[in-house]
Amino acid sequence: MRITEAQTVSGWGKNFQSISTRAVVSDVAETVEIISMGTANRGLLPVGLHRSYGDSALNSGGTLIDLTELKHIAIDPETATATVGAGVTISELEQAALAHALFPPVVPGTGNVTMGGAIAADIHGKSHHKTGSFSQSVVEMKLLLANGSVETFTPHDPEFWATVGGLGLTGVVIELRIQLRVVQSNSVDVTEHRVPNLSAMIDLLGKSDKDYEHTVAWIDLSGDYRGRGVVSLGNYGSKSVKTSSGSGGLSLPDLAGTNFISPLTVRAFNEVWFRKPLKNGAAALTKYMHPLDGVANWNRIYGASGFLQYQFVIDEGREEIFDQLFAGLRGLKASSFLGVLKKFGAASKAPMSFPRPGWTLTLDYSVTVPGLEIFLQKFDEELVAAGGRVYLIKDSRVSPKLVPAMYPELDQWRTTRNAMDPHHLWQSDQARRLQLC
Ligand SMILES: Cc1cc2nc3c(=O)[nH]c(=O)nc-3n(C[C@H](O)[C@H](O)[C@H](O)COP(=O)(O)OP(=O)(O)OC[C@H]3O[C@@H](n4cnc5c(N)ncnc54)[C@H](O)[C@@H]3O)c2cc1C
Repeated sequence: MRITEAQTVSGWGKNFQSISTRAVVSDVAETVEIISMGTANRGLLPVGLHRSYGDSALNSGGTLIDLTELKHIAIDPETATATVGAGVTISELEQAALAHALFPPVVPGTGNVTMGGAIAADIHGKSHHKTGSFSQSVVEMKLLLANGSVETFTPHDPEFWATVGGLGLTGVVIELRIQLRVVQSNSVDVTEHRVPNLSAMIDLLGKSDKDYEHTVAWIDLSGDYRGRGVVSLGNYGSKSVKTSSGSGGLSLPDLAGTNFISPLTVRAFNEVWFRKPLKNGAAALTKYMHPLDGVANWNRIYGASGFLQYQFVIDEGREEIFDQLFAGLRGLKASSFLGVLKKFGAASKAPMSFPRPGWTLTLDYSVTVPGLEIFLQKFDEELVAAGGRVYLIKDSRVSPKLVPAMYPELDQWRTTRNAMDPHHLWQSDQARRLQLC
């Protein structure tokens, strides 16, 4: 085990700085040992690769238990299942599974997410309308509890569902058993369509869910905010394609804290993106699933102040909320570099899981946009009034008073969580900010 001096940590959005001690553990015994060492009143928090955008994986004044070295993977081709350590990444699982013509049914937009982080957020991908979220492929979970015991939970147990979407506040995920799906090759057959505005996008995405396993749209949230964009549809392919190894090798240097995102640069980038040749045909599965992983540290383009990612879900039939949002952002001249629209399918059984049926929109903004925070505070209230909610794993700013309305099963989650951790060993900046526990 390596324990570091107190150091500064931030989430992927780099808009929060937090100082904490880090204990890097390499096996279960060391993880148990951390608990027995006792903690100061700021407690412990299990963490992965800090791909959560805000303060979910921060614990100022406390200790982070870094699980990224728990890396074992065993694939059982007979049952098409994988037994994986908490620190295994989605990309590592994909590679191991593909060697047996298998693939994880749910993968997010980046492969650099650990199994622990995937459970704590109950991540979703382009297949949500068909497969549901990550937890729906997990058949067993080994968890280190606050009392130092390691227990195995299945989807029959309330502890399992409290941990799913539980933001690291129920215990340390040590190992998962995941049901994989059979694939014929390492490819996906992709069809892309350019659409002129939001209603055309909604129409096409809605119609395509029946025939396509993967559906998502890039939406241009700059300029006149018409919501033009590119809808991408995919099905697992049968033709193997060549893949390059690694992340593609590009890494953005530290740009001396400069913010390169402005209405002009975003407008120019989005114009090119909108006009780029459409993909049609076989693409490498891993590249299609994780388009941004070709450039490491892309979060540096927002400069030293960082950025926030705002993702929410809203019921079908309440699409008028998009007009309200776009009008406000247009007024602020707030241009989003990465807008994504997707339709969700059925929710999981987890009280704190984010996805539920409806439309989910994701936007990125520099935190330096004048008036943005005040606008988003008002918009959060309208969102809640319309029955929507934000994705907490990406949040760093929502008001605690809105959380019970966004997550109506919060109290049910609290009851199970408090029984699992009566002395509040597991703590995070986000849990304190949102008064979750
Ligand atoms: C480029 C990019 C694209 C993304 N795309 C998607 C997407 O398509 N869909 C989606 O749903 N999300 C997406 N995300 C968000 C990401 O999937 C989540 O934030 C995920 O939780 C990050 O995992 P991590 O290993 O980095 O965990 P961290 O960020 O380190 O931690 C996140 C949470 O998990 C908890 N945690 C970590 N490890 C453990 C453990 N072993 N036991 C218990 N709790 C633990 C932490 O306490 C914390 O609450 C994206 C993020 C980025 C940066």
